[in-house]
Amino acid sequence: MLQQTQVKTVIPYFNKFVKQHKTLESLSKLTENQILKLWEGLGYYRRARHLLASAKLLVKRYNSKLPDTLKEIKKLPGVGDYTANALIGLIHDYPTIAVDGNVKRVFSRYLNKKESKINFEKLIHINKKNFFIVNRNSDFIEALMEFGALICKPKDPKCSQCCLKKSCRYLESPRKIKTNKRKKVKIMNYDIFCYVNKKKQLALTKKNKISFLKNFNLPLIKKMKNNSLNEDWQFLKNYKNSISNLSLNINLYYKFSNKIPKLYNWYSLNNNKEFIPSFTKKIFNQVSTLF
Ligand code: SF4
Repeated sequence: MLQQTQVKTVIPYFNKFVKQHKTLESLSKLTENQILKLWEGLGYYRRARHLLASAKLLVKRYNSKLPDTLKEIKKLPGVGDYTANALIGLIHDYPTIAVDGNVKRVFSRYLNKKESKINFEKLIHINKKNFFIVNRNSDFIEALMEFGALICKPKDPKCSQCCLKKSCRYLESPRKIKTNKRKKVKIMNYDIFCYVNKKKQLALTKKNKISFLKNFNLPLIKKMKNNSLNEDWQFLKNYKNSISNLSLNINLYYKFSNKIPKLYNWYSLNNNKEFIPSFTKKIFNQVSTLF
């Protein structure tokens, strides 16, 4: 849940999950729609799908226990180097470091060396006798991440309070490396066509090929073309929506109709048992101005 998402956003979702599903077995019995419904609003929905697939695999193949080798852990859906190291360290107290953005920045600043010039695997291996000395590896993993989030922060690191300030090369160097990388934002343009009825419902389909929301409930959506306006459709408005590093420029059209194409179903904004992504909820909000 915490990948790409702030702690304060995650806390209510995490609490809801652990209250409803106290065991891996319970989690593994959810349907995809049920886990997405619990995850609704948190974004990056591939994480929820991977979590469910991993829970099922752990229950079925590993007797509901996390394997104790990195090789086996990486067989779980959606688990790469970072997550595998975090899991094996936090759960099995294995001497390792989960190298996330915070940890990379801490090492990069401490050495005053660009992240791209550091071989983190080698760095950890060479320094293992210094890092893993007190047999509290899981605490060490968390401490490093927290240190990056709270002290050696992306902006304005708290060097005066830092326990590493006497040996930090970033602090002493007149030529400090730059560590604030700006994410490149990609602008994409879409036309969205909404079938609407008098019950304030929208026709949605899961049959769409939009990569960032593939197989989720969406209206008809197409890459924007000049002169794409079909006379049957009324222009409602232009608006922007951001998803991850995408900035979406959207022209929204609508049509009142009782007939909808095959593979579309009517949905209301509220009282849906089915998962509706925030992207589609925003469309509902725009269309609600028609009533
Ligand atoms: S002294 Fe400053 S830059 Fe160096 S590790 Fe500490 S907080 Fe980061």
